Amino acid sequence: MNEPKKLFVKSFGCQMNVYDSRRMADTMAPRGYVETAAADDADLVILNTCHIREKAAEKVYSELGRVRRLKETAASEGRRLVVAVAGCVAQAEGEEIIRRAPSVDLVFGPQSYHRLPELLARAARGEKPVDTEFPLDDKFDHLAAPTPSAIRTRGVSAFVTVQEGCDKFCTFCVVPYTRGAEVSRPANKIIAEVERLAAAGVREITLIGQNVNAYHGAGTNGRSWSLARLLERVSDIEGIERLRYTTSHPRDMDDELIAAHRDLPKLMPQLHLPVQSGSDRILAAMNRRHTRADYLDVVARLRAARPDLALTSDFIVGFPGESEADFAETLNLLDAIGFCGAFSFKYSPRPGTPGAELADQIDDEMKSERLQRLQTAIDRGQQAFNRSCLGRTFDVLFEKPGRHAGQLVGRSPYLQPVQATAPSSMIGEIATVTITEVASNSLFGALAHAPVREPALLAAGA
Ligand code: SAM
Ligand code: SF4
Repeated sequence: MNEPKKLFVKSFGCQMNVYDSRRMADTMAPRGYVETAAADDADLVILNTCHIREKAAEKVYSELGRVRRLKETAASEGRRLVVAVAGCVAQAEGEEIIRRAPSVDLVFGPQSYHRLPELLARAARGEKPVDTEFPLDDKFDHLAAPTPSAIRTRGVSAFVTVQEGCDKFCTFCVVPYTRGAEVSRPANKIIAEVERLAAAGVREITLIGQNVNAYHGAGTNGRSWSLARLLERVSDIEGIERLRYTTSHPRDMDDELIAAHRDLPKLMPQLHLPVQSGSDRILAAMNRRHTRADYLDVVARLRAARPDLALTSDFIVGFPGESEADFAETLNLLDAIGFCGAFSFKYSPRPGTPGAELADQIDDEMKSERLQRLQTAIDRGQQAFNRSCLGRTFDVLFEKPGRHAGQLVGRSPYLQPVQATAPSSMIGEIATVTITEVASNSLFGALAHAPVREPALLAAGA
């Protein structure tokens, strides 16, 4: 039997890339590739890249510098290291990557992952294939499913892509160009994938998509299903105890989905709902298609449906034309909503997007200053939320060993990491934990009572 080849995949950026990287590894597994955590001894290195901000894209080139040295070392030892660049930088820059980094052997965009084996065969013949097409066939039909043992290694919480691409065209964003138009996967494929994950011990599913609540895939009844309908169906799958979905657009948060937060007990009371800015002037310039009042209204309706719902968001500071008054509107939106956390970014002009062409770009110093003020306010909100958890009792899904011997770490319904003393046999279980200490962003707790569920398949080493 041939020695297995070693595959090193590094994901940059969003959860969609993490999911795609896993599916690429699953596709290469039956072809004799095993994943390695170290690039040094790999036969194939795939960088699955992100183009959302300039910094993210530049990271890829510095990583390629390191990979080039690994390739030279491998060659000096008589081995061939094949270097592939996948993802959104690949889609946006194509051939340019090979011009800038000649050590790269193949380049392929997010819609071509199923062609990886064929592209590798071409690279083995000395070609340097570049595949950035948006083919008509669905890549998910061709990517291999993970084996039960791969699922177990990845843990009790899993992502499942249900939707890709975006039709919203926010003026700052490259996603509609790099990921293409919105496409929803058919419900039966998603259900089969979740059933497979559940059978191998996964307890929590996060349905993901660039604009996940625009989901409108073919349902099992031949009609188009909404995300709410899909969540309802997935929540019936045996073994699945928790559901989440991300990332949503405020415009697509319809009544049916809001009602799902009231009606589906497995849907966790935490929602990531990017708002980007608190100023109507900037929201309009961003082409967000919602106002500040629309956002406040959606949040009020969500909270009426699920009073314990906690919200996180994304913000951009320094979009062209953002005045101090606009920025003040963003800061006071934080107070008006009371987010339990948020991501915040300096606006990064992306080539080909309308925002990059706008005249009144903000200088970097001002962006940094606003980002600092925004992050201080976000941290204050997050810490207040975490402090409010002290003494409360939560269901915690234990995921892996904790910081200290005898401890496990799990997630609260609000996605906070919770450390507690518990046996490793409880990995994969949901247990009731009382929060006894809050330190910065970590919660510490004690098991409220003995486990109620059977030890899961994912118990240590299973
Ligand atoms: N689809 C989601 C939405 O509707 O907001 C998120 C997409 S994007 C992968 C994640 C976040 O990156 C965005 O919410 C936005 O805050 C940020 N982002 C996107 N383009 C950006 C840019 N050009 N500069 C800075 N941040 C950006
Ligand atoms: Fe980008 Fe806007 Fe689409 Fe989100 S909704 S992926 S920010 S274009």
